[in-house]
Amino acid sequence: MTAPLIDPFARAITYLRVSVTDRCDFRCVYCMAEHMTFLPKAELLTLEELDRLCSAFVRLGVQKLRITGGEPLVRKGIMTFFRAMSRHLESGALRELTLTTNGSQLTRFADELAAIGVRRINVSLDTLDPDKFHRITRWGRLDQVLEGIEAAKSVGLRVKINAVALKGFNENELFGLVDWCGAEGHDLTFIEVMPMGDLGGEDRLDQYWSLKDLRARLETRFTLNDTTERTGGPARYVRLAETGQRIGFITPLTHNFCESCNRVRVTCTGELYMCLGQEDMADLRAPLRASAGDGPLEAAIRAAISRKPKGHDFDYSRQTVAGQVSRHMSHTGG
Ligand code: SAM
Ligand code: SF4
Repeated sequence: MTAPLIDPFARAITYLRVSVTDRCDFRCVYCMAEHMTFLPKAELLTLEELDRLCSAFVRLGVQKLRITGGEPLVRKGIMTFFRAMSRHLESGALRELTLTTNGSQLTRFADELAAIGVRRINVSLDTLDPDKFHRITRWGRLDQVLEGIEAAKSVGLRVKINAVALKGFNENELFGLVDWCGAEGHDLTFIEVMPMGDLGGEDRLDQYWSLKDLRARLETRFTLNDTTERTGGPARYVRLAETGQRIGFITPLTHNFCESCNRVRVTCTGELYMCLGQEDMADLRAPLRASAGDGPLEAAIRAAISRKPKGHDFDYSRQTVAGQVSRHMSHTGG
């Protein structure tokens, strides 16, 4: 039997997030600059290479695979890859195959995603106001995303809405988002904005709305009961006593979530990042391309996991952005 991946802090690595493209049909202001230079195609892992890479991780004990990007559903032929990964669901090696999407392509793909065994998806949505939606995504259309979410719901996919908490932007929509998710039956998680990538003039501190403040505002209308529920990720959950709704908080800045980290990330070029908030990485594309066998690839994965750091160093205190990493979220995959 293959030995599982255990890092130096005795954390078992069972969760892999893979970015399948750096491209996107949106240009969210906290994620990308308006004029991005994308990678040449030859730099990207092919769909076959992505299959080999993910399958190697599954052999090494990964049980949960999340496909992300950029926007994963704009990658040409991506459903071929999803179909290939479903064999690991069928064998029982993989417990969950899922994706994080901006929702724009869900009307096309929800059906097939459900058919191959995807059960839950994360859809990023920061506002329910069409004008604000257009402003924050620069290129997105809210009605298209809402139709996508509806399509997902209608084929039985469970939808979790991820909303980035943005000062002066969606502060006044807090209750609107909570009520809408409650009515639609979607889970809801708020995320603090993280200092990743140069945004071409956008200021992180201008965007940052602490979830501590958000929580306090929620408490003006609801009774929040902390729960010990975990979904294998960094989110902490509360239940609203009045409605029973579960609300998640991902708080890399105000609360360090690293101690229970079970995940690693691979970029669309095959760079393995052991921590979202650190620069250290291992190139997996070279061993993938150097050999038709997976021995060198598995050795490179093991060597990298033995360097997984204890945690990130993001810090917004003292009114400066510290611990910033230079790559964009769309590069590593959020
Ligand atoms: N395009 C897909 C989407 O938007 O869901 C998947 C990739 S996107 C990079 C993944 C998640 O990262 C999204 O929920 C997005 O809101 C979040 N994100 C992007 N930049 C961020 C930042 N600087 N801080 C916190 N979250 C960010
Ligand atoms: Fe695209 Fe997602 Fe980044 Fe928005 S957050 S620009 S949808 S990759």
